[in-house]
Amino acid sequence: MANSNNNRRKFMATTLQSVGLTALGGLLWSGYTDEVKASPLVLRPPGAIKEDDFLKACIKCGLCAQACQNRETNLDKETGVAKEGTLKMAKGGDHKLIGTPFFIPTEVPCYMCEDIPCVPVCPSGALDQLSVSNDKGELDINKASMGLAVVHKESCIAFWGIQCDACYRACPLLGEAITIEMHRNERTGKHTFMLPIVHDDVCTGCGLCEQACVTEKPAIFVLPNEVSKGIAGDHYVKGWDKKDQDRVQNAKAIETTTQRSNQSSTDYLNSGDLY
Ligand code: SF4
Ligand code: SF4
Ligand code: SF4
Repeated sequence: MANSNNNRRKFMATTLQSVGLTALGGLLWSGYTDEVKASPLVLRPPGAIKEDDFLKACIKCGLCAQACQNRETNLDKETGVAKEGTLKMAKGGDHKLIGTPFFIPTEVPCYMCEDIPCVPVCPSGALDQLSVSNDKGELDINKASMGLAVVHKESCIAFWGIQCDACYRACPLLGEAITIEMHRNERTGKHTFMLPIVHDDVCTGCGLCEQACVTEKPAIFVLPNEVSKGIAGDHYVKGWDKKDQDRVQNAKAIETTTQRSNQSSTDYLNSGDLY
């Protein structure tokens, strides 16, 4: 009897242990898959290729983050010691693919270095030098598109009529990536709304505006392009844009050629006499 009780106790202990281990394994696994899943909200270094391809290409060497931290402008003038760099390498708990570089503008934005030291050191092609180069093949940080700054009108105090141009002043492409649009304040009749407007074709997504925003949680923030930009679709044409009109004409020409070639094969099949 004592022996059978012992066996039962052992069995219960083993069962509980394995249930516990399975639950722990489940937790660890779900944690792991969370880290492995590409976060749609992650901001990558300048020149980063499309997120899906980036995740395949990046070999997690950390050279970009190292170059960012050791860049000339990041060294403390008195001590010569490097301050915290913009780029971090994701670790457990960051909810990004572990070992890949990213940045958080409210912590350290990208300072849009003219020589973009983070890009040429990338050995894998995850950061594409050509995408941040001008027509002469020179590095040009203004070509970077790390994301797009988006203004949340309801929390931006400039949209309430309070004078604020912190984001506008912080922007390295002042007057180009953000402009100020003046509107008469009908409520007071004597004040002007000074509204920050972001221009998507110029904004690099550096995040300096987000860091400078004065509201408790920034009313202007950078989102990755995949998340922040819509797609109008090919069937909408800007009648005033020659390039857009050409695009549609070309598409029509291709469509007509395809239709003709389909027609000829059908005609060919149906044209012969039946014997
Ligand atoms: S361009 Fe931005 S990410 Fe690259 S080194 Fe400079 S601050 Fe760092
Ligand atoms: S240098 Fe290139 S491959 Fe290395 S971690 Fe940075 S992006 Fe990835
Ligand atoms: S992210 Fe902000 S600061 Fe940087 S270019 Fe765009 S609007 Fe200017």
